[in-house]
Amino acid sequence: MPQVKPSVKLLEYTPNPERTIALAAKLCYSDATIENLQQGLDKSDITKFIERLRSFGHASPFEHASFTFGIEGVSRSLLAQITRHRIASFSVKSQRYVAANKNDGTFNYVIPEAIEAMGKEAVEKFEKQMATMHEWYTEWQTALGGACEKSNEDARFVLPNAAETKMIVTMNARSLMNFFNLRCCNRAQWEIREVAWQMLELVLEVAPAIFGKCGPSCVSGACTEGKMTCGKPLEMREKQKALLERIANKKE
Ligand SMILES: Cc1cc2nc3c(=O)[nH]c(=O)nc-3n(C[C@H](O)[C@H](O)[C@H](O)COP(=O)(O)OP(=O)(O)OC[C@H]3O[C@@H](n4cnc5c(N)ncnc54)[C@H](O)[C@@H]3O)c2cc1C
Repeated sequence: MPQVKPSVKLLEYTPNPERTIALAAKLCYSDATIENLQQGLDKSDITKFIERLRSFGHASPFEHASFTFGIEGVSRSLLAQITRHRIASFSVKSQRYVAANKNDGTFNYVIPEAIEAMGKEAVEKFEKQMATMHEWYTEWQTALGGACEKSNEDARFVLPNAAETKMIVTMNARSLMNFFNLRCCNRAQWEIREVAWQMLELVLEVAPAIFGKCGPSCVSGACTEGKMTCGKPLEMREKQKALLERIANKKE
């Protein structure tokens, strides 16, 4: 089955991310030694400091905690969008060193949900189009000298945006907040939105004090999309609330 679906894993993150950010915040407003600052920082202080930072708009302490995700089952179309986020680090599967064809002679791709929703006939049409592009790819690969870096790099020009890719992405908490703001929003394209919500769920499990109010702008204030608003702030707040509840239930 050459079709794939977005899947995100939280691979690594700064140990004690909430404590690290709260410590950085506390240091800004205190004359105490770092050792003393570390000692007098209990759970309620941590939550309080993070909340105060947020209310001041003092965002730089949030840069001290980083989160690394493994993202697969996504399209090259998603890649073009996610890599626009400059305050992040990316490692992406190469289309030069890794040939697109799998052992069974097909290649992986993402089918848009809207096309799936149109039914069997539409899906078959899409699959046929993908198969044609795969034929073109193999044709050029062979003509250019067979599966190797040199031929892959040119044969890939006939692959579609739907072609599957995978990546490892690292962002700090400040950059993630901006990412969630833009990409959990209904205005964002469906695939990156799906990935953003999966990422939000993963970081909420390990750092709820940092990310508890994250999501599209409308979950914690007014919509920032102006005339382009989807007009569904209540629905988005419900969605974020349901996510928080699901995570709280998991922990019980
Ligand atoms: C719904 C939607 C539609 C979009 N449509 C398009 C489109 O049609 N065409 C298109 O090209 N892009 C489009 N984008 C991409 C968008 O313009 C941004 O490039 C992308 O969302 C990354 O956001 P960012 O710059 O805030 O993130 P980052 O690059 O991670 O930057 C984070 C923050 O750092 C600051 N910053 C970073 N670099 C600079 C800099 N050079 N100068 C000043 N401040 C900086 C800014 O405050 C920025 O918000 C779209 C995005 C969304 C969500």
